[in-house]
Amino acid sequence: MIKALYPGSFDPFHNGHVEIVERASVLFDSVVVAAMRNPQKADPLFSLEERQEMIVEAVCHIKNVEVVSLSTLVVDLANQLGASVIVRGLRVVSDFEVELQMAQMNRKLSDIDTVFIPTSAEYSFLASKLLREVASFGGNVSAMVPKVVADALDARFGR
Ligand code: ADP
Repeated sequence: MIKALYPGSFDPFHNGHVEIVERASVLFDSVVVAAMRNPQKADPLFSLEERQEMIVEAVCHIKNVEVVSLSTLVVDLANQLGASVIVRGLRVVSDFEVELQMAQMNRKLSDIDTVFIPTSAEYSFLASKLLREVASFGGNVSAMVPKVVADALDARFGR
């Protein structure tokens, strides 16, 4: 039984994230998606609880997935959940530099391995930060996020 942990800020969760969860759910026996607080990303748009609720709805079509939200170290959460693998998505080469360092740090801390899933080309431009910016200026991002997220962005920015 291999349980994978897919941690991220997910502020907000978008279609690129959904696709990574779908593919991880095929590779592993179960997947836990964790909405986490990222200290480098101050001032989140949605609270951890709001993000968790949106992710639950966005991945409800996938059977072997559960969703949590926590402000803790990723490796501590993985140990707590019995997850032996961390999953991260890769969009572009610059992601790899940051992700490699984080994967090596996590392995040093807890012997846990990270598996990278390369995004499909159609999602490689998608980034939560960009979506937040576009939505805040009234842009329509509904084709790039699950419906529950599009509705939440509309409510937040009054589209
Ligand atoms: P972070 O966790 O670094 O704060 P995010 O919440 O945006 O950043 O992303 C969570 C995870 O999803 C990371 O592994 C990130 O590389 C991955 N990811 C982000 N955008 C995409 C995308 N468009 N396609 C595939 N994976 C993505």
